[in-house]
Amino acid sequence: MAHYLVVLEPRNGLVSEVSAEVWHRVQEQLASGDRIAGFVAGALSPGALDVLQGSGTVHHALSGSPLLPSGTVLCRMLSELVRREGCTAVVLAATAAGRRLAPALAATLQASLLAGCIAGSLDDKVCRRYIHSGSVLAAFRPQSPIRIVLQGREYRRPPFRSLERPRCIAFQESSGTLPDADPVIRAIMAGGSPEDISEAGIIVAGGRGMGEAGRFSMLEELASLLGGSVGASRSAVDEGWRPHSQQIGQTGKSVAPELYIACGISGAVQHLAGIASARTIVAINSDPYAPVFDVADYAIVGDVREVLPRLTDAVRDVLRKK
Ligand code: FAD
Repeated sequence: MAHYLVVLEPRNGLVSEVSAEVWHRVQEQLASGDRIAGFVAGALSPGALDVLQGSGTVHHALSGSPLLPSGTVLCRMLSELVRREGCTAVVLAATAAGRRLAPALAATLQASLLAGCIAGSLDDKVCRRYIHSGSVLAAFRPQSPIRIVLQGREYRRPPFRSLERPRCIAFQESSGTLPDADPVIRAIMAGGSPEDISEAGIIVAGGRGMGEAGRFSMLEELASLLGGSVGASRSAVDEGWRPHSQQIGQTGKSVAPELYIACGISGAVQHLAGIASARTIVAINSDPYAPVFDVADYAIVGDVREVLPRLTDAVRDVLRKK
């Protein structure tokens, strides 16, 4: 019997969409006798937990201070909760904060760290994940009794429906110490980092075909109109046009936006590995035979310098008429 602890990240006083998604995915996979609990730290708005459906308990650590705890303190609180409740798995969303917390937690609890597991594999014995740029589905058997699982987003899943609601109880550390404040974790968890493209719902990404760093302003303009974020291929990052935090792919971030617009990106397998869960892919490329068109839902053959301004104008027109 498994006992899952889902780490819920707050966003502006609410439970973040990506955390709620992880919570519901675990709910769907509960077998008879399995248990689920949640953990959230920091001040929450009234009704913040209403987005959560299903059974279980949510432990809410309230410091009495508006500041959110540091990674070290979160790690200490979670370790205590895992030991106290006898949890067998801690599940975190693969966000910047999740990626930061998970290894620390695994080290503290001497637990196996499983990252990038695909949905449907969250059982006691095995975790499946794609390796070698998505060409091999590998099964990992955790060696320790506790697993720390980092889960990415998945848009194609229908919403989880349950009449039940988890109950919320206050979490108090046995040491009784108040959390300190970590500026990085606090920034990530309180406001949502604009740099954290792994959570973005819309991404406009550029590759070497953008030609120069300055042309990324076209992507910034389109992304800001759409309420999205800017991403990049490794070539664009290697050129120094964008920071590594925006790199998408095998050695960058895996993303799962509803809309991914690839501009001047050839579609190398290492890049495509990072966008496997994108719902709709639009590709703009001057080469009609670019591999990115094999995975694109909409293909625009053309020069980004001509297509992007027209696309941006068209989006602006649509938004103006709304
Ligand atoms: P290119 O392959 O050079 O493609 C540029 C594209 O732009 C071309 O298709 C061209 O037709 C088009 N183009 C040119 N001019 C224009 C224009 N004016 N208008 C429209 N289109 C135009 N890559 C990643 O992206 N992410 C990773 O995480 C990653 N990890 C890697 C890990 C390993 C171990 C290795 C070996 C490679 C990795 N790569 C990764 C690199 C990857 O193999 C490719 O080299 C890289 O993705 C290519 O980036 P690109 O598509 O921007 O550039």
